[in-house]
Amino acid sequence: MDVTRMTTDVEILPIGGYNEFGRNMTAVRYGNEAVIFDMGINLDRILIHEDAVFESLAPDTLWDMGAIPDDRVMADFDAEVKAIVLGHGHLDHVGAVRKLARKYDCPVIGTPFTIKLIEHMRDDNRGGENEIPNRLVSMNSGSQRDLSGDLTLEFVHMTHSIVQTTLPVLHTPRGAICYALDFKMDNFPVIGSPPDYDRLREIGMEGVLALITESTNAHEETKTPSETIARDLLKDHLLGLENERAGLLVTTFSSHTQRIKSIIEFAEELDREVCLMGRSLSKYTKVAEEVGLLKIPDYVSTYGYGREINRKLKEIMEEGKENYLCCVTGHQGEQYALLTRMARDETPYKIEADDQVIFSARTIPNPNNEAQRYTLEEKLRMKGARIIKGAHVSGHAAREDHRELLGMLEPEHIFPAHGDIEHQSSMAELAEFHGWDIGETCHILRNGQPKKL
Ligand SMILES: [Zn+2]
Repeated sequence: MDVTRMTTDVEILPIGGYNEFGRNMTAVRYGNEAVIFDMGINLDRILIHEDAVFESLAPDTLWDMGAIPDDRVMADFDAEVKAIVLGHGHLDHVGAVRKLARKYDCPVIGTPFTIKLIEHMRDDNRGGENEIPNRLVSMNSGSQRDLSGDLTLEFVHMTHSIVQTTLPVLHTPRGAICYALDFKMDNFPVIGSPPDYDRLREIGMEGVLALITESTNAHEETKTPSETIARDLLKDHLLGLENERAGLLVTTFSSHTQRIKSIIEFAEELDREVCLMGRSLSKYTKVAEEVGLLKIPDYVSTYGYGREINRKLKEIMEEGKENYLCCVTGHQGEQYALLTRMARDETPYKIEADDQVIFSARTIPNPNNEAQRYTLEEKLRMKGARIIKGAHVSGHAAREDHRELLGMLEPEHIFPAHGDIEHQSSMAELAEFHGWDIGETCHILRNGQPKKL
């Protein structure tokens, strides 16, 4: 035990996501108690479609790979962990729960959609080395829960590119600690309501000791567009082009339920049957339906596994692909994803001249993705397909979203996270512009290096 430790100390321990994008994890200690926010994987280090490999690797190997947060630093923290709190369901925030959560004798808490994803993860890993024995606790945004005599957790509704994102707030006797990873200020979301600005302002008035915030797009001098803009672009691409006799393939992020809702609705106007195809697409869509966030109409079916997908694709070719819209996995050109396999002629679906392939996703900028996407697009072009890109908006706060949040919360201390030092610096620069002092009240931390407040 650190003899200089005070019972009212607050300490922020960055565990993952401060030197890189991905494997997000931060611990916050008050006195001898702590709360962990997120347990993500580093998507760049794991080809997530090769889940089987990830599943079988032990934590030490994954630490060496930089694929999961190196939580061995928690040993020095010497605090009783009261909860693992998940702000939203993206894999770079929850993917390591099956590798690390069992080390902590505490519940995992998230919104119903996020917890439902973890329940599926738990059911897939029962009895194995990735068992999740922790109690899974579902908590709605707008509610609070006491974690101990001193610590209360509150969820404030927030928006992002996955449904039921929340901004967790840890209330301590020293003030609130707000964890804004990830978010954007979407005033016109396609599912759910805009962020709870009133509550954020109130929390700001009550006193915020620290804001831990993402910094992914802090350098972008704009406000991140609403999901409604992506919906309008999709509408224009789907309803505004001549496609009556064409095959229609759309690919997007499997976890992006809002986007999938828009695709389903425009397909109805086109009078096409919708097939949601691919394992992850099928999984996330089912979870959204289970928690009542997405209603799957009669003209929509999901196909998760190879054999059922192939059977349906054969039927589509026989009945005429102009009657269908296939929403498929593979927007990054992933080697084993459905769109890539279709382009390689490994399925019964034949992509022909004038078929349309709509990419409702950006290429995640790393050389591996860019190379895979290039290969996929070239294969599609060689078949004469029309490639339509750009129906996408980011899920991450840009400079103006950050300015708004800073204005509402007015935190004493700011900790930029979710990115490398270049992105953290952009956030720090914005904070400095508004009166925070880098090194005094705005802190750029590295993985494993705690800061006491
Ligand atoms: Zn996210």
